[in-house]
Parts: sequence; C-alpha cells; structure tokens
Amino acid sequence: MKIVLAAAVLLTAVSSAQQLPPPLPVTAWQGRTMGSDYTVKIVDAKLDPAATEGLKREIEEVLAEVNRQMSNYLTDSELSRFNRAPANQPFKVSGDFARVSRFALELSRTSQGAFDPTLGPLINLWGFGEQSRKQEIPSPAALAEAKAKTGWSHLTLSEEGMLTKDLPGLALDLGAVAKGFGVDRMIATLQARGFKNCYASIAGEVRVTGKNPRGTKWNLGISLPSDNWREDQPMAAQVAISDRALSTSGDYQKFFRDASGRRHCHIIDARTGSPVQHDVAGITVVAPDGMTADGLSTTLFVLGSVEGMKYIEARTDAAALFIIRQNDGTFRQLPSSRFAAMTR
Ligand code: AMP
Ligand code: MG
Repeated sequence: MKIVLAAAVLLTAVSSAQQLPPPLPVTAWQGRTMGSDYTVKIVDAKLDPAATEGLKREIEEVLAEVNRQMSNYLTDSELSRFNRAPANQPFKVSGDFARVSRFALELSRTSQGAFDPTLGPLINLWGFGEQSRKQEIPSPAALAEAKAKTGWSHLTLSEEGMLTKDLPGLALDLGAVAKGFGVDRMIATLQARGFKNCYASIAGEVRVTGKNPRGTKWNLGISLPSDNWREDQPMAAQVAISDRALSTSGDYQKFFRDASGRRHCHIIDARTGSPVQHDVAGITVVAPDGMTADGLSTTLFVLGSVEGMKYIEARTDAAALFIIRQNDGTFRQLPSSRFAAMTR
C-alpha cells in the first residue's frame, strides 16, 4: 500500500512539473564595483557572447561613472573634490550628484538627523572609512573633535546644483545611498537597451523588473543575520516582487567587538556620534527604486524598530521588515503593514 501511494505522489509531481513551461534562458554575469560584487541577470536576452561582452562593458562604464561621481575612495571623484573644497564657496555638481545629495539631505531632514551624509570623520574614527587605521573605541576627546566636523545642516544645495558647506572640513559621504543609485543606473541602462525582465544588484541592494525566467515575479530571499554571514545563509523571509528594489542594512557584516565583547557596527547614530546600539540586527526595505530603498534601510536601522516603524508607515509608501535580535540569540521578525501584505 505504501509503495502504491508513493508511486501516486510521484506521478502527480511529474505531471505538474510537465505542465510548467521550461524556464526561459538567462544571460548573467558578476563583477566588482564599490568594493562589492555586482550581478546582472537578463531573462531571454537573445545575446551572442560578443553582444553580452559589449553590454557588460557598457554596464561597467556606467558603474565607473557613479564611482567618479560618488566614491570617497577615488581621490579625484566629484565627492572627494567637494570634500577638499573650501567652505562658503558654491561648488557645481553634476545632475546625478545633485539628485543623490538632494535625496540624502531630504532623508536627513525628515529623519531629524538620524540619517546624516556628513559622518565621514566619525566613520573613519570608528575604523570603517577610507582613512581608518584601527577599529577601537575612540577617546571622548577624539569623538567630540570628529563630531564637531559633522552635521547635514551645514550643507545647502541650490536648485541650480550648487553645493555649499558652511563649516570648514565638512565632508559628504554618500555610502548609504550610492549603491542603490548604482543599481538604478544599471537597470536604466538595461531598459534603454530594451530588456524588460532584469535583475541587478550591488552587495545587498537589488532591483528587479518584469518577470523571472519562470514568468512570475522575482523571488528574493532575506537572509537571517549572522556574524559569519555567507551567500548560502538560511532565509528569514522571501518576497516576490516586480519593478521594485530591495535593500538590507544591518550590524552583522561590518562590525568589530571591543574587549567586553560589545558589538560596534558601521552605521553611526549622528546624535551620539557612536555606532548604533539597539536590538535591530537587520532591516530590509522594499521601495520603487534602489536609491530610495538603500537610503531608507540605513535610516530605519538608525531609528530602530519603534521610531523606524512610525517613519516607514507614516512618511513613505515603502515596506519594511525589521529583524530583531533577542537575548537568547534567536531573531524575531517585525513586518510593517505593507510588508505583511506583500507576504500574505
Ligand atoms: P548601508 O550599508 O547602505 O546601510 O550604508 C552604510 C554606510 O553609510 C556606512 O558605511 C557609512 O558610509 C554611511 N553611514 C553610516 N552611518 C550613517 C548615517 N547615520 N547616515 C547616513 N550614512 C551613514
Ligand atoms: Mg543604505
């Protein structure tokens, strides 16, 4: 009897597999940008190897352009040149740079400074920046000195794209939004070439259009936080999305522990000058575009689950999933209303 039942189950599985059309072919590749891996997938692209190589070069040129605009590692980037420029002298920035900085300043204002794109001196002091030497707790004097060189309200951006700082030494850091913007540029490039069903990512920033190779929405996994995070990490949740971006910020990929074992991560609370310390281990945002998702995930991570939840529900159309670290080392999930509706 058992054998017959097993055979029947097998038959059902085979016949339903036969009803599914075979997946469409995918053209995909990976590369490096902004200190991370990037990925492109195009469904049914119908490209020969030479055309794929040409498209790859085009995407890499677009990413190189974003780096020439917003990298704080390239000493000659637009951002680095602005950072070296004197105070109180308007500095003309490119259209892309103006868009991203305008968005960053808007996030700073609406989050009342939880998000702040001028924290470079603090990020370096805590050992997470391009000028960092050590990852250790800084002295109160060093902290106060670095904090005095920060503050988004010292920046103004005119309608014409003139960026001005009124504090000498103030530096812009677009690290919390540039990858998401890079993903937007990748998708725009693919769309301009007529591709409708695409996936583009840089590190934890993903944006998808159209359908996956099976003709349904793209299934994206949200991994469980882990200090030994790996690509094949167990999943906390899955979302099926199309024409949306997904971004995750967390404290488990870039952090150090002090002598007492306390964790210090790469996202700084501008109000204290120190790495964010609360029970949120990871926050994932789903928003219409990569820059918005990227900026919001960093903002919500700083705000924490209570303030962050209020912010996402009241001020945005985006969805968010907070993953909370509990005392026993397990995790609890806290979805916003729009996130819960997406996974129902
Ligand atoms: P993300 O990985 O997108 O959450 O961005 C983290 C990066 O944003 C850090 O590596 C810093 O460069 C920068 N950053 C850190 N704290 C803040 C903050 N409070 N507001 C804006 N950017 C920040
Ligand atoms: Mg971000």
